[in-house]
Amino acid sequence: AKRAGGNRVEPFRPAFRAAGADKLQIETDLRRAIERKELFLAYQPIIRLKDGEIAGFEALMRWDHPKRGSIPPSEFIPIAEMSDLIGPLGLFAIDRAASDLMVWQQQTGNLPVFVSVNLSSAQLLNADLYNDVRALLQKTQVNPGQLKLELTESLMMENPEQARLVLGKLKETGLSLALDDFGTGYSSLAYLTQFPFDTIKLDKALVRNATEKRAVLLRSVIAMARALEMTVVAEGVETDEDAAELAKMGCHFGQSYLFGPPAPADAVLRLLKERFPL
Ligand code: C2E
Ligand code: CA
Ligand code: CA
Ligand code: CA
Repeated sequence: AKRAGGNRVEPFRPAFRAAGADKLQIETDLRRAIERKELFLAYQPIIRLKDGEIAGFEALMRWDHPKRGSIPPSEFIPIAEMSDLIGPLGLFAIDRAASDLMVWQQQTGNLPVFVSVNLSSAQLLNADLYNDVRALLQKTQVNPGQLKLELTESLMMENPEQARLVLGKLKETGLSLALDDFGTGYSSLAYLTQFPFDTIKLDKALVRNATEKRAVLLRSVIAMARALEMTVVAEGVETDEDAAELAKMGCHFGQSYLFGPPAPADAVLRLLKERFPL
């Protein structure tokens, strides 16, 4: 699928957000969007702060609606989560991301880059998730060590035993698990020990405009994560100085517009070939 040109995309109307009938319409449209190939993934680079090199990508879902133009995931993911659509949507993302990663691997001499895919914690309540993910791993033949699943704490506590069970089984397949938006909730610390995460992603709210006090907090969180042998990704890094500061604090990776915007798979392949010539 092609992305709509920036100028053609209509600005999103806030009025639309509240309208219930429109939500229903979106749900109906979303049901058809996968088969109509209106949904696709854009990949944002995740950079190793030590040397500025590309370590991986986060897969972010995009929807080019034929009439409404580009609808942001912050609008359609919650609608999908409230219906039965989040399951197929989530599997589509894993399938697509694993397939794209395989192509990049084949074309670049097996670069050890990883791809990180968002998984709604609503999906953890689906009994089929584990088998579905395993089937996709087998189908795509992707190395599970190069695939990460990102989860936020929302909904995870609705059924913590189930969440722990499913995450544990997913982890056993060799997949990596990241706790997303760390620092935005109120009980995040507990999640680090209760669930088998190996990566935390510091939310941009925590990373941005670090005051002196905030810097103390950041440093402590990074040190704690490292002591738990976790990998740390900082989101929303805005300046080179911040990147250098975060690297000094021991933060492994950064992801923000500073390092690059989300881009379609073919653009990523071009970028990788250019950055890592065979
Ligand atoms: P997220 O997982 O926290 O993803 C990071 C968001 O920050 C993305 O927004 C990305 O485009 C944006 N971003 C990247 N760099 C910067 C920066 O330097 N400054 C700022 N202000 N923002 C930056 P996006 O693509 O609009 O996605 C929003 C959210 O929608 C995601 O937040 C995630 O929660 C959800 N989402 C996106 N794709 C999927 C998906 O395939 N499945 C599920 N379940 N959720 C998804
Ligand atoms: Ca994410
Ligand atoms: Ca995030
Ligand atoms: Ca988020």
